[in-house]
Amino acid sequence: MSYDYLIVGAGYAGSIVARCMAEEGKKILLLEKRNHIGGNAYDFIDENGVNQHKYGPHIFHTSVEKAVTFLSRFTTWYPYEHRVLGYVEGKLVPIPFNLTSIERLFDSEKAEHLKQVLIQAYGMEKKVPILDLRKHEDPEIRELADYIFEHVFKYYTMKQWGYSAEEIDPSVTARVPVHISYDDRYFQDSFQNMPKEGYTKIFERMLDHPNIQVELNCDANQRIHLEQSTHEIYFDGKRFDGKLIYTGMVDALMDYCLGRLSYRSLEFDIQTHDGQYQPVGTVNYPTSAAVHPFTRITEYKLMMEHMPKDKTTIHVEYPYPYQEDAEKGNIPYYPLFTEASRNQYKQYVELAKQYPNLYLLGRLAEYRYYNQDAIVVRALEFVETLKKAD
Ligand code: FAD
Ligand code: UDP
Repeated sequence: MSYDYLIVGAGYAGSIVARCMAEEGKKILLLEKRNHIGGNAYDFIDENGVNQHKYGPHIFHTSVEKAVTFLSRFTTWYPYEHRVLGYVEGKLVPIPFNLTSIERLFDSEKAEHLKQVLIQAYGMEKKVPILDLRKHEDPEIRELADYIFEHVFKYYTMKQWGYSAEEIDPSVTARVPVHISYDDRYFQDSFQNMPKEGYTKIFERMLDHPNIQVELNCDANQRIHLEQSTHEIYFDGKRFDGKLIYTGMVDALMDYCLGRLSYRSLEFDIQTHDGQYQPVGTVNYPTSAAVHPFTRITEYKLMMEHMPKDKTTIHVEYPYPYQEDAEKGNIPYYPLFTEASRNQYKQYVELAKQYPNLYLLGRLAEYRYYNQDAIVVRALEFVETLKKAD
């Protein structure tokens, strides 16, 4: 059987391209090294009847209609708005840090004053990245910003990344800005819904097409060879003249010829408890590693449409540096956003460009922090360029 497309990785990036190009009449071979499809969005019903997200909590939220329209071909939805509380000075306060967080942490007179200062400086419903707030001209705002930084960002970021908030790209902490508002939802997007039958079902339906063949438990790097002298791609020892869409780690594809890229990994301590464990879906622990060595706890049943009553499943999330052969921390969850690692990545891209039928797509291959809606949009735009090129 000959294929037009060899796609590596059955997450959003690989699966969307597979489906769209299959609908264009192309023959697709999709290789996935795990024993399941869905990438990091993979979920399943566990022994407690809980829809557990194997690789950490995935909450769907977007303001981009194109993402919803496409995914709605494969799922219906139920409403879910994620709320997060953070453990600050022994109290649980809303995260992103907002006006209610101020009320919970300061006495009423001081809280009222601080709220007014912020509202006057920025106006209601404004979102301010913590690193910007710390540079405000008003010393009172800077003092509050330092407090928030110390109690919400400093230790969490250190635990999560192994680097301080100043050392990693500012876009990372800007994902959770201080919110001048009483809106205690984690996201403010117009569409906040979860797939009715879970994420995995979306992928099952997406890949159910006669032109798509999926091979699981297959590390594509064992079967693909990039010939440096001719810039040809070989698959199973034969020259492959179709298109290779690669959504894994680009350094692994290139035999680490420019060194290893840095990633951050996670381990989940999966626990079963009776009843309900915590008040909201996720509780963050922005305390020092000495107090709480984990970053957050997620209780999955609180995100379900119909939650089982008796038992509950939680994930206690521990960050690790990524190392391929380590017992813990052997999955590359997040690209590491330091300047050095981004520069190293750019050099890999230059190498990849030499192969005319190689395309890098997705969170790992593009070394980017894509949310689910963002990778859907990116993959759909990529498909449009492929269609024009064919
Ligand atoms: P992936 O899902 O990682 O898929 C890549 C696939 O390629 C994997 O299945 C992998 O096994 C496979 N692969 C890699 N190398 C090879 C190889 N050599 N051979 C064969 N197969 C290979 N987004 C949200 O919108 N909301 C959230 O709440 C949210 N929470 C997240 C929480 C965590 C802990 C993480 C890590 C991410 C979260 N995301 C969230 C982001 C979301 O996971 C990504 O947007 C999405 O997974 C990106 O899809 P992808 O296809 O690029 O990558
Ligand atoms: N962050 C933090 N404290 C928090 C929540 C987030 O310091 O209570 C910082 C931290 O650096 C984290 C980043 O903001 O990595 C982005 O948080 P988000 O919840 O978006 O992380 P993700 O769910 O993608 O892991």
